[in-house]
Amino acid sequence: MRYDYLIVGAGLFGSVFAYEAKKRGKTVLVIDKRDHIAGNIYTEDVEGINVHKYGAHIFHTSDKQIWDYVNQFVEFNHYINSPIAVYKDELYNLPFNMNTFSKMWNIRTPQQAKEIIEKQIAELSITEPKNLEEQALSLAGRDVYEKLIKGYTEKQWGRDCKELPAFIIKRLPFRFTYDNNYFNDRFQGIPMGGYTKIVEKMLEGIEVLTSTDFADFKKTHPDIADKIVFTGMLDAYFDYQLGALEYRSVRFENEVLDCDNYQGNAVVNYTERDVPYTRIIEHKHFEFGKQPKTVISREYSSEWKVGMEPYYPVNDERNNALVAKYQELAAKEKHVIFGGRLGNYKYYDMDKVIVAALEAVKGEFE
Ligand code: UDP
Repeated sequence: MRYDYLIVGAGLFGSVFAYEAKKRGKTVLVIDKRDHIAGNIYTEDVEGINVHKYGAHIFHTSDKQIWDYVNQFVEFNHYINSPIAVYKDELYNLPFNMNTFSKMWNIRTPQQAKEIIEKQIAELSITEPKNLEEQALSLAGRDVYEKLIKGYTEKQWGRDCKELPAFIIKRLPFRFTYDNNYFNDRFQGIPMGGYTKIVEKMLEGIEVLTSTDFADFKKTHPDIADKIVFTGMLDAYFDYQLGALEYRSVRFENEVLDCDNYQGNAVVNYTERDVPYTRIIEHKHFEFGKQPKTVISREYSSEWKVGMEPYYPVNDERNNALVAKYQELAAKEKHVIFGGRLGNYKYYDMDKVIVAALEAVKGEFE
């Protein structure tokens, strides 16, 4: 059987593409090396709680079209992400806002906060921030940087803040209002019943082979499809011939606890260097769960090595230069579309993955 498309990876990019291709009468086969669909947005039921098995995902977007798009598959709840940061014995609200500043400096007004931050920035003489450290310092001043950014970032990325790109910290809002919403986006929520459901809906009526590795599959089925949508690691596709790209991996230590509420919030970040994990997720709070037990996950960040799960591309200068070279090779693979966080080596949020998938669909069918 020959298909129009072989889709490698049943995550968000691959599943959107599969859904749209099928809608247009194309034949599609989806394969995934894991024993389940949904990629890293996969959720698993533990004690009646949807556990985000590959890390917490909070859907947020300012794009009405994308919001409507995901809502055709599943309804979303009204969860708003408002993480807490723990630094030694101090506790702060995130993102950086008036609640954070009033706690840090015992002040009350935006004017007071601005004066303190401006004074700290003036002592630095940074004109054009060149890296994450300079960006963070010139945005939030030294206290916020030292207590809430430096340790967390260096744990998460395993690199000095001076070696990281500024854009990573620009993901976070910084505001002088008492607003703990982690995102500025107009739409936000968690799919009711878990993320896996979205992908199940997208892949309804589509042939899916799980536990199927592309490298093996293509040897036994070299002509299975006219075109391939590849959402695995870009450098792996090319057998690392130009060298390996770097990724960050995360290890989760999951625990089922015999209490109904462990930390009172879905996300608590541990921003000091000496605590080995970056954050603890308490999954039930994403869905306002009332279960008698709770499931928590401690996140330990590490450099990716063969056999681990790749989560974050490391978009520093070296990797970006290497990825540009791989993309030249990719452009010559006329029958392959590369997509998703791994296929594009981009720190995409979910809404941006969908945008990219729909653009790929447009490129193919319009
Ligand atoms: N960050 C930080 N302190 C925090 C939370 C985040 O310094 O308490 C920085 C850190 O550099 C991180 C970046 O902000 O890599 C982006 O955080 P985000 O929560 O968007 O990361 P994700 O949820 O994608 O892992």
